[in-house]
Amino acid sequence: MRRTGWPGKARQAETPTRAVGLARLASFVPHAAACARERNRVVPPHDRVSRLSPYLRHRLILEREAIAAVLDAHPRDAVDKFVSEVLWRTYWKGWLELRPRVWEAYLDQLRRDRDGLAGTASARYAEVIAGRSGIACFDAWARELTETGYLHNHARMWFASIWIFTLRLPWTLGAAFFLRHLLDGDPASNTLSWRWVAGLHTRGKHYLARAENIARYTEGRFDPKGELDEQALPLTEPPLDLTPGPLSASIEVDTDLPSGLLLTPEDLAPEASRLSKLRFRGVAGGWDEPVGAGLDLAPAVVDFSRAAIADALARAEAHFAVPSDVLDEGDWLVSAEAWALSLAVRQVVTLETPLGRWRERLEQLDARLARHGIALVRVRRIWDSSLWPGATRGFFPFNEYARRQGRLDGLTRIEPSQPG
Ligand SMILES: Cc1cc2nc3c(=O)[nH]c(=O)nc-3n(C[C@H](O)[C@H](O)[C@H](O)COP(=O)(O)OP(=O)(O)OC[C@H]3O[C@@H](n4cnc5c(N)ncnc54)[C@H](O)[C@@H]3O)c2cc1C
Repeated sequence: MRRTGWPGKARQAETPTRAVGLARLASFVPHAAACARERNRVVPPHDRVSRLSPYLRHRLILEREAIAAVLDAHPRDAVDKFVSEVLWRTYWKGWLELRPRVWEAYLDQLRRDRDGLAGTASARYAEVIAGRSGIACFDAWARELTETGYLHNHARMWFASIWIFTLRLPWTLGAAFFLRHLLDGDPASNTLSWRWVAGLHTRGKHYLARAENIARYTEGRFDPKGELDEQALPLTEPPLDLTPGPLSASIEVDTDLPSGLLLTPEDLAPEASRLSKLRFRGVAGGWDEPVGAGLDLAPAVVDFSRAAIADALARAEAHFAVPSDVLDEGDWLVSAEAWALSLAVRQVVTLETPLGRWRERLEQLDARLARHGIALVRVRRIWDSSLWPGATRGFFPFNEYARRQGRLDGLTRIEPSQPG
């Protein structure tokens, strides 16, 4: 692969804006086909993968934009792997949306596992997350994660596997450690990937990290021969109903009512959404300290969201030609309510927040606004409405579902200024 600029960019600290995300995508596109062949190689600065995940996760850029960009530049076969990778994100989101109890069960188990940490187990856990487990590769990844907010997918799989099967720590604590530090930390991709490694997602089928595989894909940088438990059995858990339920209905906006636009860090590209043609009296958004504290987020993760929200507010102000307000971080709910009242709107419109803390926050805001006769209208993207219902079984049927009858092509061709 020709190395023209791409590797260096991966190392620089960037201001998280939509423009930077789109530029990152544009500079990755020419390399997408070559990268696909070597994407499992785990050698910093990870120039065989896109490193687009923090931008995709906050929807500074969209899944459909990433897929359309690579398909426009390459034959489909050459970038099929990349398309599937992006669809994994949509799949995990849809899968969890159809089974919210899996997220609730994770939070309950995490609480119990945190409470259960005592004595030597607690000291061991502290050593492990400080990068002092004694397993060189694992410790290097723990440091890389806390210092950069990123780990290569293969390293995430090895890390989770060693955490669960060699170090014998509760998987929930590992998932929470990832969520604390990853700039792309995401309830669906993270929780479900940890469950998949543990053997809880596809029951009885777990992912065991093997020393030989690590040595091969780190190109000899690490060789943990004899240090890993390569025989461990999958984890089990009390019965949990994994039957998919219905998706909640997406509510439509009443275009005749005076409205305000509310942004959350779950979706920061309103001008490239079905809201783009609507008229608003104002736009607001801001970080919410209790959300960050609830997830124990690292300062770099909070800073990423703060900067991304500021960028989205500036873009929305220009696109919708309305004033923007930054909500109070310490009192987000009260501040959002006061903003809606100050605009004298009848509805507050926001892009759907998937399962997680921000959704809980919106539910609280909904109740507050209702007291004033103001509706909170959560609009789901066409991408999500079309694809999430397909996440009823495993990824491979989902992948088929996404591509059936040109569904994916249709979805990627929705122009930014059109609904979507
Ligand atoms: C234990 C574990 C925890 C994970 N936690 C997260 C998380 O919290 N947030 C997150 O975004 N991803 C998570 N992933 C998935 C994956 O590791 C990252 O999305 C990927 O490494 C991001 O790097 P990239 O942008 O260079 O990916 P690329 O390889 O360039 O892929 C392009 C895009 O496809 C998507 N993608 C690729 N692989 C996956 C995958 N396995 N699952 C979901 N989406 C994928 C991402 O949006 C990514 O940006 C986790 C994986 C594991 C094994």
